[in-house]
Amino acid sequence: MRTPEKPYRCGVCRWQGQLEPIDAGDAAPCPQCGVYLYPLTWIQTWGVALVMIAGTVAAVFVMVFVMKGSKRLSHMSV
Ligand SMILES: [Zn+2]
Repeated sequence: MRTPEKPYRCGVCRWQGQLEPIDAGDAAPCPQCGVYLYPLTWIQTWGVALVMIAGTVAAVFVMVFVMKGSKRLSHMSV
């Protein structure tokens, strides 16, 4: 059975890319400097983008909520 490639990033030489893990712990040697790397987790790969998207969505929701709230308040005061 072929091991699926996983995303790795080397903290020593900054190499980044896909490797096939060579042991059960998903470790793989860096092709440039030979340091043992561990695959990036889903959060590490997509976390920053997700946080940015979530932040944008949250900001839009807050803006809509605040606008609705102020509209209702001004309507009530009239
Ligand atoms: Zn490296």
